[in-house]
Amino acid sequence: MADFHIGFDLGGTKMLAGVVGPDYQVLSKTKRKSQSQAGPEAVYEDIVATLKDALTQAGKTTKDIGAVGMSVPGILDRKKGTVVRTPNLGFYDFPLADRLKAEFGFPVVLENDVNAGTWGEFVAGAARGHEHILGVFPGTGIGGGLILNGRLYAGVGGNAGEIGHMILQVEGPLCGCGNRGCVEALASRTAMGKDAIGLIANGTLTGAYAENGADLKAISSKFFSQGLKEGNPHIIAIIDRAADLLGTHIGGCLNLLNPELVLIGGGLVEKLGDYYLKRVEKAMRASAWEFVAADAVVKAAILGDDAGLIGAADLACKAVEA
Ligand SMILES: [Zn+2]
Repeated sequence: MADFHIGFDLGGTKMLAGVVGPDYQVLSKTKRKSQSQAGPEAVYEDIVATLKDALTQAGKTTKDIGAVGMSVPGILDRKKGTVVRTPNLGFYDFPLADRLKAEFGFPVVLENDVNAGTWGEFVAGAARGHEHILGVFPGTGIGGGLILNGRLYAGVGGNAGEIGHMILQVEGPLCGCGNRGCVEALASRTAMGKDAIGLIANGTLTGAYAENGADLKAISSKFFSQGLKEGNPHIIAIIDRAADLLGTHIGGCLNLLNPELVLIGGGLVEKLGDYYLKRVEKAMRASAWEFVAADAVVKAAILGDDAGLIGAADLACKAVEA
């Protein structure tokens, strides 16, 4: 069995590929913009080119590679290796694993992106040494991953762990998934951005905060970290509300799963740091049963982009060896 595997993180805005060696070191990293509007064939061609670049950069050939793990945001049929649906990239029932295998010759395994990230932190990052892990990744959306008894729990169809799409407020705001009042529609960075736009529109937020007007895309995690740094009370109130809602929801999940680790990663944690993490934790401890909360520690993810690469590569390696 080859010692090297490739982890590929196919995102809505960028794609990232890395050759991962033994002991989980990432030997090369290549990046391309995802031409999400250009259609599935154009995205596929970019995936092929990015894989070739990753091999060249690491000084490897296809023969050195045991398997490729593709982490994909969307609904997958992992047994067939098809991408059932990714609204961001235009794939519908796309036979991604078979197409890539025909092109390169190595086996290709598809995995949900947050599952891959949680697994990466489990084998090589902040979650090492824990067996029962709830991974939560608040950013543009809110993703979740579950490791139970030391194994990835993906559910019967491979789509378990969607902590962001549990309903917290009946008849609440519309979510990207079509339901109303999902945690993601209330507490993601996108939801926080909508709050900020409301305050820009009514004149509460002014100056540099209002310079991009009502452009939701311009309201990044940095917008909130800046407000936090400057002590802007309106922006801090938005952060607090979102963190409290997410923490309350995680507390309920603690009662369901009794994990030993809540791993929190993604853009909001990276930019808002301890302030956000502690606020989420406080709300979590207030809503979970005390003895269940006492079993759980909260940690920030530490691998960033590498988590998805390492996790996808390792899961693919294990799937092929099984
Ligand atoms: Zn939803």
